[in-house]
Amino acid sequence: MRLLLVEDNVPLADELTQGLQRQGYAVDWLADGRDAVYQGSSEPYDLIILDLGLPGLSGLEVLAQWRASGLATPVLILTARSSWAERIEGLKAGADDYLSKPFHAEELMLRVQALLRRARGLANQPTLEAAGLHLDEGRQCVTRDGVDIQLTAAEFRLLRYFMLHPQQILSKSHLAEHLYDGETERDSNVLEVHVNHLRRKLGRSVIETHRGQGYRYAGSAE
Ligand code: CA
Repeated sequence: MRLLLVEDNVPLADELTQGLQRQGYAVDWLADGRDAVYQGSSEPYDLIILDLGLPGLSGLEVLAQWRASGLATPVLILTARSSWAERIEGLKAGADDYLSKPFHAEELMLRVQALLRRARGLANQPTLEAAGLHLDEGRQCVTRDGVDIQLTAAEFRLLRYFMLHPQQILSKSHLAEHLYDGETERDSNVLEVHVNHLRRKLGRSVIETHRGQGYRYAGSAE
């Protein structure tokens, strides 16, 4: 999953970016509100974390412009602890959730996971499950019938994307856009290698190839 972080406090942005990357998210970072308006609407983000106090353009105004242009991406806003008015304005402007500073990194991770599941219509699942596989996002491994199957970081990122989009045909370019940040070179051969590794670990039928179209997570156990 690919996230946009808009935060002008550089040490905090660094810390959040590293934490999110450790959780297997591709993160693009911006500090200026005007840049955020443009990039948030032009890149296919799965979720946006938006500070409200920003140079250039306030986070509230950024959010209002995104929503006015039809952007439906889930947005989590970061607000000042004491400002209930900010939280209310943010929710009115179209935020999906908020966190008040300072917050614990784990709370952010859990809210991000929940928002991503909710956006995919999987809000009823406390953890990600599809067709016999259970993804443990905290430990970054998958279990089947209570047995752990270890994954590399790249395999985990890819499998999480598949499990959030079950039964959907996903092209290699679509997957690359959602698995890599804007700075990383995208190589579809690498994706192919990871898909093959996942098949070896989980069973061939778990991920189908649709010639010329892409991959589909079927999730059926062999
Ligand atoms: Ca700020």
